[in-house]
Amino acid sequence: MSQSGFRDECGLMAIWGHPEAANLAYLGLYSQQHRGQEAAGVVAGDPGPNGALRAYRGLGLVADVFQRFDFADLSGRNAIGHVRYTTAGGNHLFNVQPFTAELADGPIAVAHNGNLINADELRQELVQEGAIFASSSDTEVFLHLIARGDRSRPLTERVNAALLRAEGAFSLLILTPKTLYAARDRFGLRPLALGKLNGATVLASETCAFDLIGADYERDISPGEVIEISGEGSRASYFPFPPTNPAPCIFEFVYFARPDSMVFEKTVYPIRKRMGEELAAESPVPADIVIPVPDSGVAAALGYAHRSGIQFELGLIRNHYVGRTFIEPKQSIRDFGVKLKLNPSRELIEGKRVIVVDDSIVRGTTSKKLVQMIRRAGAREVHVRISAPPTISPCFYGIDTPTKEELISSSLSTDQVRTFIGADSLAYLSVEGMYRAVGSRPGSFCDACFTGNYRAGVPANR
Ligand code: AMP
Ligand code: SF4
Repeated sequence: MSQSGFRDECGLMAIWGHPEAANLAYLGLYSQQHRGQEAAGVVAGDPGPNGALRAYRGLGLVADVFQRFDFADLSGRNAIGHVRYTTAGGNHLFNVQPFTAELADGPIAVAHNGNLINADELRQELVQEGAIFASSSDTEVFLHLIARGDRSRPLTERVNAALLRAEGAFSLLILTPKTLYAARDRFGLRPLALGKLNGATVLASETCAFDLIGADYERDISPGEVIEISGEGSRASYFPFPPTNPAPCIFEFVYFARPDSMVFEKTVYPIRKRMGEELAAESPVPADIVIPVPDSGVAAALGYAHRSGIQFELGLIRNHYVGRTFIEPKQSIRDFGVKLKLNPSRELIEGKRVIVVDDSIVRGTTSKKLVQMIRRAGAREVHVRISAPPTISPCFYGIDTPTKEELISSSLSTDQVRTFIGADSLAYLSVEGMYRAVGSRPGSFCDACFTGNYRAGVPANR
């Protein structure tokens, strides 16, 4: 996290070699809206001796940002795009990506998913050397590092040298009129997939973007790999970083990625369902129905119901049209915020022993209100099952989590959390169970928010 105090959750999209590159980038962002809802942008360009890059960016959802936009204004066969979510304070137009700049050898654009752990140090060093930053984002550091590289060397060498200075999480797209670079940090913390659309090359954080535009998934950019795409789509691959055991983010499977996507070369949905199955095997309890917290708990609840043999029901109905603001009556309504989003079905719940499944308890507020709501709907017992281990530590690698103090499981035992949320019982999936569900050896992913083991390091001020 940078000193500006905001953290990113982001989605990336790139197209190389298609006449409607910007339009496809926009569609790719549309399907990855869940990765960031506060800003979106696309930069497009064409090669050629006077090649330029053109950008369109705005605050808001992809559909709103591009509502009246004419894609003829973003002509060009190559494009990169970005959606972002920032916590309060960082949501300004000057932070909206992709960033663009004019280097001595031409224009350049950068889009970044992840957080650097040494962004503050790099920024201070660059400012001391005279760099002027236009944003408060970690990402701009890349532009300055590339701009200050040895201009007697080819751009690819300068890009690799800049990436070598960055520590922490980055999946990165860099576009110039002649070249597209796609890179993942040496731990491979954040996803980045490579695909083909007829003769064009496409890249996205999640493969659901490929599905929408009819592209075929080819493979992931490997952890620590930098791919250079140029000309008619010819590729060169580099591994500039020291050899490292990869640590992709296991939380993508738990919550963040769309269930229909592949991330880290695995489809999310069956993993999420297996998390529920493992949870049922580890923490059974006699009950009448299993209900998910929609949408985050649906796949795991199906898995739990499947393994336990207990009836699955949609006991909580979600309103999909809840915006960010609403006018609350002066006479306050109990649990208004959660009620606006989720409503229990009394008919299904009354008199029943209910197992309610969600993917995580962060601050504990959602679960507490849901347990109260389910009890008021007439449940006889409420058993909460969480399809991941307790979230005990914040993420420094690009997933928005509150501070350690605000994470309820960082200081309270499972039984204390159970008392806080008012459930009859509470159980989490074990770390081992989570890895069994993913089908990987324990420790082969980053699991720092569940274990406190930050393999990719922590910022100096932590
Ligand atoms: P809380 O009320 O703070 O305990 O939040 C729990 C809810 O937040 C659960 O329903 C989760 O699905 C959801 N959740 C977990 N992690 C995140 C995240 N990084 N961003 C947004 N929502 C999350
Ligand atoms: Fe993912 Fe958690 Fe690691 Fe962050 S700390 S990268 S959310 S596993």
